[in-house]
Amino acid sequence: MPLPLTVGDQAQMKKKHPCGGDVFTLERVGADVRVSCDICGAQIWMPRREFEKKVRKLLTKQREEPENVPKEK
Ligand SMILES: [Zn+2]
Repeated sequence: MPLPLTVGDQAQMKKKHPCGGDVFTLERVGADVRVSCDICGAQIWMPRREFEKKVRKLLTKQREEPENVPKEK
């Protein structure tokens, strides 16, 4: 199942960046994914499939989901 990747989300990777950081922010999402290291700011392109294999977990920010909020009338 494909990961729900969204620009602005952060992802913790299985492998640390040489600078020691393991959290990356998604800059661009498509067939290829561009991420930037949260520690040193390095940008990395990689195929989406490769990225999905390397992700340990997504640190997705909680989004408001208005559909799930019961409306009072
Ligand atoms: Zn780095």
